Amino acid sequence: MSDQEKHDVLVIGTGIIGVMSALYLQSQGRSVTLLERGEIARGASSGNAGILAFPEIIPIPAPGLMKKAPRWLFDPLGPLSVPPSYALQVAPWLWRFWRASSESAFRHGLKTQISMMKLSAAEMDVIRAMPELSGFITNTGTLDLYDSEVSFNAAAADWAEKEKAGFVFNRVGRDEIEELQPGLAPQFQHAMFTPGGLQVSEPYEFTKAIAKLVIARGGKLIEGEAQRLEPRSDEARVTLTGGKTLDAAKVVVASGAWSKNLGASLGENLPLETERGYNTTLPDQAFNLTRQLYFNDHAFVVTPLSTGIRVGGAVELGGLSLPPNYRRSEALLGKAAKFLPGLTTEGGKQWMGFRPSMPDCLPVIGASKASPAIIYAFGHGHLGLTQSAATGKLVSDLVAGRDTSISIDPFRAGRFG
Ligand SMILES: Cc1cc2nc3c(=O)[nH]c(=O)nc-3n(C[C@H](O)[C@H](O)[C@H](O)COP(=O)(O)OP(=O)(O)OC[C@H]3O[C@@H](n4cnc5c(N)ncnc54)[C@H](O)[C@@H]3O)c2cc1C
Repeated sequence: MSDQEKHDVLVIGTGIIGVMSALYLQSQGRSVTLLERGEIARGASSGNAGILAFPEIIPIPAPGLMKKAPRWLFDPLGPLSVPPSYALQVAPWLWRFWRASSESAFRHGLKTQISMMKLSAAEMDVIRAMPELSGFITNTGTLDLYDSEVSFNAAAADWAEKEKAGFVFNRVGRDEIEELQPGLAPQFQHAMFTPGGLQVSEPYEFTKAIAKLVIARGGKLIEGEAQRLEPRSDEARVTLTGGKTLDAAKVVVASGAWSKNLGASLGENLPLETERGYNTTLPDQAFNLTRQLYFNDHAFVVTPLSTGIRVGGAVELGGLSLPPNYRRSEALLGKAAKFLPGLTTEGGKQWMGFRPSMPDCLPVIGASKASPAIIYAFGHGHLGLTQSAATGKLVSDLVAGRDTSISIDPFRAGRFG
């Protein structure tokens, strides 16, 4: 059975990448249909930490990381874990991740992230200026905390790169830390404060508001699960579970961690994995939190949201089917209680989300090998919210056949051969 109507641009997925792409496409005069198999905005984009982390230009695969990783792996509730039953499946991805941590790959990743983050900040300013969305973005400033002077000094090279890239921050000692966030444990004597640090007030509400805006501007929403993609002369066909087909002049694949299967239906073997992340959202009264706090030595963050206080992070390379291990959320909460001694840890809501991640921690943005009518936009890992507006802009340029303002060559789907 075929949907008689031919769609102009069909966007598969209503996470932040899908809805932001749809918004940009509409602003360029395209007519957009969103295809979603579940509830709008209920993927990774619903439960993330809400941070617009533009200064996070340092690639995760970095020289020296492989020295730390085995130590983390021995702690099953530490910042990085691989469930034994998934170890074999994730091994090829880990091998590519290790290759991406060479000095030259790191430098390439850094240069790429700098240009992507500059575009991300500029485009998020465009979003922030929209009356329907401006209320969701707040400037709370970011406090990056270190357990000791040794770990603070170990991060000096990263901060030097951020300074070189034009980000503004200043070193703060215990008195200023106490002023910026009263009630932190006394071990925190060394921190960096980024006064321009932005966040969204609630990532799910933000994503839903963009979807609502797209629909209010004439966008359509179809419920259904894309199962297969197929190029057809100068357009593309999407076959849904159940057999129905949808034809569109352009198809944007923004299906987050689930995009791999759609690429496979086109014959592309994409090394997309998921870095599962965990958090707990506590009631607002749990702590008088003034701003985003990064606990750098423990790879987790605490963010004040309009719906409560979110404590989360961690990476679990466990694929899409294993059940969540909420002991990881509890472990993070236990640490947060130690670092914020007055934190009330009762009454929280636990969550696990699937970060869509490529081994070099760069997204995939660009036309598929199979057809210029099928455009990929996924794999943003830890930075999907941050890079969503830039991705929307790049997708809209690609759909229009225009040159992009930054090189998207580093985002090619085929970069791993
Ligand atoms: C714990 C945690 C904290 C994070 N914190 C931050 C942060 O502070 N800042 C930041 O920038 N990023 C953060 N991230 C990362 C960010 O959440 C993701 O990169 C981003 O949400 C990915 O968005 P997406 O639209 O690609 O995917 P998703 O939000 O997962 O959306 C994909 C959508 O596609 C739909 N879909 C999938 N397959 C199909 C199909 N076949 N047919 C139809 N629909 C389909 C899904 O139902 C879903 O709605 C965090 C992630 C986690 C897990």
